[in-house]
Amino acid sequence: MRRRVILLGPPGSGKGTVAAQLKNECGFDHFSTGHWLRQEVARGSALGRQASLFLERGELVPDEVVLALVKDALSNAQADVGYLSDGFPRTLAQARAFDAWSSPRGLGIEQVIYFECSEALVLNRITGRRSCGSCGRVYHVTLVPPGQPGRCDDCAGELTQRTDDTESVVRKRFKIYLRETEPLIDFYRQQAKLDVVNASQSVDVMMSQTMSLLQR
Ligand code: AMP
Repeated sequence: MRRRVILLGPPGSGKGTVAAQLKNECGFDHFSTGHWLRQEVARGSALGRQASLFLERGELVPDEVVLALVKDALSNAQADVGYLSDGFPRTLAQARAFDAWSSPRGLGIEQVIYFECSEALVLNRITGRRSCGSCGRVYHVTLVPPGQPGRCDDCAGELTQRTDDTESVVRKRFKIYLRETEPLIDFYRQQAKLDVVNASQSVDVMMSQTMSLLQR
């Protein structure tokens, strides 16, 4: 099975939910730059203060900030280590810089799975989304409910709605996605690394399709 994988897709496409399940069921080393950034904001660190306005407005944090976070997390990794990224890279500049940094270290991306999804579906999904303030696991009030309402199944942390999950911010994030992130689809297709999952299906179907793509 491939071990260095990027999940690509608009906010609310279900890639975060699938990533969390892959982590739990297959032991993938899952990372989410959005979760790391929200943790920095909650901690009140210098980086968090720098990033908080971007997150609130649904805008992308500057490339250098995100690249520094990812490189820092992976720089101690052994060559040939695995990862499953949800939410990074999000711009062509990030993708190019990450390729240039990771390939010579034996950490280059092996496969990109694109979760294809319409804006209408994204809006519908995101209004019901809740996430754990402590471990970042993502739920949905009806589609992926926790065992106990308001509590994380993994760590019992409190489940809350993200401040950037309101309709107006989500519409803005979708526009930014189309402008900044969608070009990555062609970028990775040209590298022959791209596979596609139809993200309008249930989480279980997306999960099993993702699993079979990973095993190819
Ligand atoms: P997410 O949890 O992936 O939806 O990310 C939430 C927010 O974090 C985004 O709306 C951005 O403000 C920021 N963010 C996360 N990942 C990135 C990234 N790779 N590049 C720039 N900003 C990011």
